[in-house]
Amino acid sequence: MRYLILSDIHSNLAAFEAVLADAGSFDRIWCMGDMVGYGSDPNECLERLEPLPHICVAGNHDWASIDKLEITDFNLDAQLACLWTKAQLTPEHQAYLDALPEKIIEGEFTIVHGSPRHPIWEYLFSSSSAADNFEHFTTRFCFVGHTHMPVIFRNRDDFCETFVPEPDSEWHFEEERAIINPGSVGQPRDGDERASYVILDADKGTLTYRRVAYPVYVTQKRMLNAKLPHRLAARLAYGW
Ligand code: ZN
Repeated sequence: MRYLILSDIHSNLAAFEAVLADAGSFDRIWCMGDMVGYGSDPNECLERLEPLPHICVAGNHDWASIDKLEITDFNLDAQLACLWTKAQLTPEHQAYLDALPEKIIEGEFTIVHGSPRHPIWEYLFSSSSAADNFEHFTTRFCFVGHTHMPVIFRNRDDFCETFVPEPDSEWHFEEERAIINPGSVGQPRDGDERASYVILDADKGTLTYRRVAYPVYVTQKRMLNAKLPHRLAARLAYGW
């Protein structure tokens, strides 16, 4: 089975389309949430995802956009984008987001947005916060999103090691456990503006990290036409 591993699309349809075109054939999508928020195409992104074979967990922006979470912890631009998204979402897409689970377990994989300890909110930026999380899931691997940074935290002999994968690098499973972040499709924050995703080949036991360029200006233009905050459009060009 070949899985397309995605996170943090954030209503960026041009980036999502580029990833789907670049990924080639796959059996199923595993999505770590934040389908919406920040960008200009929340309904269009959900319409694109829903007919594809997929599973998806809830992200903080998904639930904030349907009033299932407080937005007071968001910065001002994120709050404005969240209120804009709420006004756009169709009742069907609100119901889809409302029904997303916080955690999914598929064989050897746990799937959450933030962390296994706090699926919606916790950011895993450091090996120390990742190390604390290994006792909060029982499978060998856990996929997370939320930070918009591609990273693998490997736990071997009670030592947690941070590994930043290069684009197009392939990682083979060994005996360790790992927490894996594919990076963000729609708003990368690691200084590379290209959309980030991962292909999991479960038969070969490999993960391939991929980056794909997309027309950033198309997304920026749509965001500015929608009167979304200028800063949210500008940051896409810098991968931040
Ligand atoms: Zn996000």
